[in-house]
Formats: sequence, C-alpha cells, structure tokens
Amino acid sequence: MKTKAAVCWETGPDARWELEELELDPPGEHELRIRWVASGLCHSDEHLTTGDLPARLPMVGGHEGAGIVEEVGASVTKVRPGDHVVCSFLPVCGTCRWCSTGQSNLCDLGATLLQGSLPGGEFRFHARGQDLGGMCMLGTFSERSVVSEYSVVKVDDDLPLDRAVLVGCGVPTGWGSSVYAARVGPGDTVVIYGIGGVGINAVQGARHAGAANIVAVDPLPNKREKAEELGATHSVATGEEAQELVTRLTNGVLADRSIVTVGVVDAVVVEQAFNVIRKGGSVTIVGLGPIAEKTIQLSGTMLTLFQKTVQGSMFGSSNPMYDIRKMLELYRVGQVKLDELCSATYSLDDINQGYQDLRDGKNIRGVIVYDS
Ligand SMILES: [Zn+2]
Ligand SMILES: [Zn+2]
Repeated sequence: MKTKAAVCWETGPDARWELEELELDPPGEHELRIRWVASGLCHSDEHLTTGDLPARLPMVGGHEGAGIVEEVGASVTKVRPGDHVVCSFLPVCGTCRWCSTGQSNLCDLGATLLQGSLPGGEFRFHARGQDLGGMCMLGTFSERSVVSEYSVVKVDDDLPLDRAVLVGCGVPTGWGSSVYAARVGPGDTVVIYGIGGVGINAVQGARHAGAANIVAVDPLPNKREKAEELGATHSVATGEEAQELVTRLTNGVLADRSIVTVGVVDAVVVEQAFNVIRKGGSVTIVGLGPIAEKTIQLSGTMLTLFQKTVQGSMFGSSNPMYDIRKMLELYRVGQVKLDELCSATYSLDDINQGYQDLRDGKNIRGVIVYDS
C-alpha cells in the first residue's frame, strides 16, 4: 500500500524532511502495521538530519509514536487489529542477556536502530528504487508503518493517543534519568541542564523522587517557566548562575545529582554539571552530541579525589515494556503531567515548521497529529 512520509535523504546543516509517497510492504512474521495517530517531534530526529547520529539513509524519521494496529503478520500474539499501542523506540526481545536481567533498555535488538531495518534485516518502506529504514525501526513520520511486535506496547483504549505518544521516548527517558539512573532521593539537590522534552521530565522525576531542591537550567524564559510549573524549585539561565545558587542553597556542600539533557551536549556543559556536584555525587548524561566529538573533558584527579561518578543513561535506564505503561498509570493519577508538555500540534505537511520551532526553542514538545 501507499503511505505519505517525511524522509531524510541526506544530512547537513540545512537538511530538511522531504515529504514523499512510499510503498509499504505488508507485515511479515512477528510484524504488524500501525496507523499512527500521533508522533512526537524529538530532538534525536534532528540529530539524524544534521548527521550527529550516523544513520543509514534514506530514513523515515520519527521514533515517538502512538497509533492503532491495522493488520498483524504471522505469529504475532502480542496485539490484534484495533488495539491501541504506544511504541518503544527501543525494541525489547525479552530473552537476550540484557532483557533477561532487567536491563531491556540495552536489548541486543537495538543494534540496528540507526539502520532502521526490522529485526530480520528487512525494509518495509520503498521509494525511488531504494529501501528506506524507519528511525529506531519505527518511522513514525509516516501515516502508516510496519514495525516489529517487539517495539509495541498495548495501552488502554480510553487514553488520548495524542498525549500518550509522549511516553514513547521523552517522558520515560527524562523521568527515568532522575528516578532510575541518577537515583534521586528524598531531600536531594538536583540540577538539570536543558529543559526540553527530556529535561522537563527529569524535573517531573526529581519531584516524584522527593528532591528538596530542583534547579532547572535553560537560557529560555518559557522553558524556565514551564520547569517551575512542573516542579522545579528554582530556575536559572546559565551554568554559572546554577553554580552560585547551588553553593548558596547547600551551604557550599553542592548538589547531590546533576543531569545533562541539553539539545547538543558539549564539554562545557558536562564540566559545569561535574563542578556543581558534591563529593560522591553523580553526573548523568542523557543528551546527545556529534558522535565523533569528545564531549567529556574533565580532571580525572578531581574525579578520584572527590569520588564523583559520570555516567550515561539510555531511555532513562527504564525498562520500556514496564515503564511505558507505568508512566500512563502515573498520568491517570496526576503524578506525571502530559497535557502540559504538548506545546503545539502540527500536520505531517508542517513537519519542517515543527523542527524550526524546536530549533527556535518555542516548544516543550511538538506533536504531529495525523488526520487519516
Ligand atoms: Zn526521542
Ligand atoms: Zn533483548
């Protein structure tokens, strides 16, 4: 069948999403076809067009998606046509070393996320005589996609999919980076650098974990305002201001945890996050930068003498099949806010406007809503 999609054909500073009609194969074994209802505009897809993330091209963008199952291939037992699903941008096979030890965010099937093929190595999108991958094996910037059953999480039918979509990437990544990766505890002082789709949820996670001081760092006033609305106790524009504020708040002890979720991570922000934590504290890096660039440049001696930890976190160190549903349960009881995160909706045709708005710092999270 045919499907309209936004495709990245080439990378570069001026690369844009090109709308194109693609041929979509029927689902094979352990695959299913989804009609997307909504797709989040995550910064990681921007990293795809700039080339920060070295992906196989051409690629259909989008890895934060919610929709309705239309057709299932052979051997699919997890979902049926008509089921509402949110997709995990990380597949979870359930049986590899990582999945079977409670670290399914590191599932071996994730190896081809940037190749975009399905677990069997096949491509279901085709155009101009070429095979196209789907970002994170999904490709949610398309009216329809064929995805692996390992990527889908069935959700309750009454949840609004244009809100639930946010738990496919940004919400568990941010929330988990505070609660699971950084292990924020009651009374802690936490500094969060960058209040975008991930950082705002790191704020929500830190609040949930009982942090006493949650300092949001972002140059944009609208982001700082949103952070305070969703639980930050303080907000500042720069790392220098954060250092001063945290020194004062903690009588010179400094912060217990810092979390880096800026749009493009560089050595400057990592050093700020390193300098703002106390002895025995930790820096958790969640954001991305150019893959070949050395974005961590620190004094190893300071690391040793102050026994600090610097760590990365994928998907907020969450377990997708469990935590995607848990985020939605917390949404139902008001402990995770989703409605407040969605700052603008777009049609697929307006996707480049959506990314311009992201670059301009206008959105907490922009969402494509499909009308098909
Ligand atoms: Zn994402
Ligand atoms: Zn696995």
